[in-house]
Amino acid sequence: MIKINDLVKVYRTEEVETTALNKLSLEVKEGEFVSIMGASGCGKSTLLNIIGLLDAPNSGSYDFDGIEVANFNEKQRASLRKANIGFVFQNFNLIDELTVFENVELPLIYNNVKSSERKRRVNEILERIGIAHRAKHYPLQLSGGQQQRVAVARALVTNPKLILADEPTGNLDSKSGNDVMELLTELHATGATIIMVTHSSYDAKFSSRIITLKDGEVVSEKQNEHKVDL
Ligand code: ADP
Ligand code: ADP
Repeated sequence: MIKINDLVKVYRTEEVETTALNKLSLEVKEGEFVSIMGASGCGKSTLLNIIGLLDAPNSGSYDFDGIEVANFNEKQRASLRKANIGFVFQNFNLIDELTVFENVELPLIYNNVKSSERKRRVNEILERIGIAHRAKHYPLQLSGGQQQRVAVARALVTNPKLILADEPTGNLDSKSGNDVMELLTELHATGATIIMVTHSSYDAKFSSRIITLKDGEVVSEKQNEHKVDL
C-alpha cells in the first residue's frame, strides 16, 4: 500500500536548516499494523505527516496505493487524504462545540455524503466502537478514553484505506490507553492497515511490526513476535 524511497524533508528557517528525514525508505503492506518509534526529534511526526498527505517531501518518491504522490500539490493531497486516510491524534482533536454524533459526521460532510447516508453510517460506527449511548453528548462530558474512542470512530467512518495514529494513548491513563490499543487491535484483526507513532514500548507490542528511526533514517525494522492478540 505504501512504498517510500529516499524521502528527504528539510525544514528551513532564517538561521537554521534541519534535515528531518534523511533519505528514508519504507514499505507498508495492506493489513499491517506498524509502530514507528524513536527518540524525540528523530522525524516520526514529519514522516507521519507526509504519509498522511498533510505535508510534502523535498525529494524522494512516495507511492500510495499505486499513485505517485510525492509531487502532489496541497489540493491534490487533500482530495486523496479525505477519501483514504483516517487520523487519530494524541489530543483527540474533537470539536468541543459539536456533539459526538456531529464530530463523527464531519468527515462525511467533507466527502459530500448525503444526510440520510451520513446518519446511517455514523450510527453504525458508534455502535461498532461501543459509544452509541453517548451520541448526543459533547466531548467534554466524556472521559479521555471515551473521547479517543470517538476520535477512532471519526477516523473510521469514511472506511479509509489507512489509519494513522500519533501517540494515541499519550494523554490517557493506562486503563483507557489499553482500551484504545485493544480497539486498534480489533480493527487490525478485521483487516485495517494502521501506522502508529508511539513512545510506548507497551503500546508497540500490539502492532505487527516495529520500525525505529534515528536522525531521520530507519535504523531497525523487526516483525513483532510478541504481538498481543485478544
Ligand atoms: P519526532 O516526531 O520524532 O519528535 P519531528 O518530525 O517532529 O520528530 O522533528 C524532526 C526534526 O525536525 C526535529 O529536529 C525538529 O525540531 C524539526 N522540525 C519539525 N518540525 C519543524 C518545523 N515546522 N520547522 C522547523 N523544524 C522542524
Ligand atoms: P514509556 O513510554 O515511558 O517508556 P511504557 O508506556 O513503555 O513507558 O510503559 C511503562 C510501564 O507501564 C511498562 O512496564 C508497561 O508494562 C506499563 N504500561 C504502559 N502502558 C500500559 C497500559 N496501557 N496498561 C497497562 N500497563 C501499561
